[in-house]
Amino acid sequence: MKKRLLIIVSIVLVLGVVGVGAVWLLNHKDHDADVLVMRGDDCNIDWSRAYGGNPSNINPELARRLCLLAEQTGTRIIPNAGFRTSDEQWQLGEEMLRSTEGRVMGYYRDENGAVRDSQGRLMAEAPGDSQHETGDAVDVNRDGRDGHFYSREELARAGLTNQNTNRSSVYGPGNPALKKSEPWHVTLDIDNTE
Ligand SMILES: [Zn+2]
Repeated sequence: MKKRLLIIVSIVLVLGVVGVGAVWLLNHKDHDADVLVMRGDDCNIDWSRAYGGNPSNINPELARRLCLLAEQTGTRIIPNAGFRTSDEQWQLGEEMLRSTEGRVMGYYRDENGAVRDSQGRLMAEAPGDSQHETGDAVDVNRDGRDGHFYSREELARAGLTNQNTNRSSVYGPGNPALKKSEPWHVTLDIDNTE
């Protein structure tokens, strides 16, 4: 009798261990799938509206985080600008100078080549000074809709920011209004790059 009881207990124990193991494996597999979905390395960034000849030539980590932003917010990423060459940076300034707004607002090129309005606010960086020339910035509206922007919180969750985080030269203590607000200008959040 004792032997039979031992066998039954053993079988129950083995089944229990196998069952727990199977449940753990299933959960583990699901967990991995979630991580995979939220890693942000696969999405379609729609560059069809973006300025310049090769706008998608951006920092791969910036692209990855934009995909993460798309996943987390359920929106499409449709940038108006990404990478641009120094020539394109100059041309963009020329277009701004020639535009109706540029003429009405008294846009001019300063001694460094940047475009400013009549109050001295920076409208376009000088060639060589724009984050777009290194592929480190993307101009993007929320879900591609004019006048809609991702919030600071949404961007922060994806390791991104639309705030000036390293602009001491432009954003000097003597003149905090030098740079216009650009809620569409999205870069890596340098606090989250590590
Ligand atoms: Zn920009």
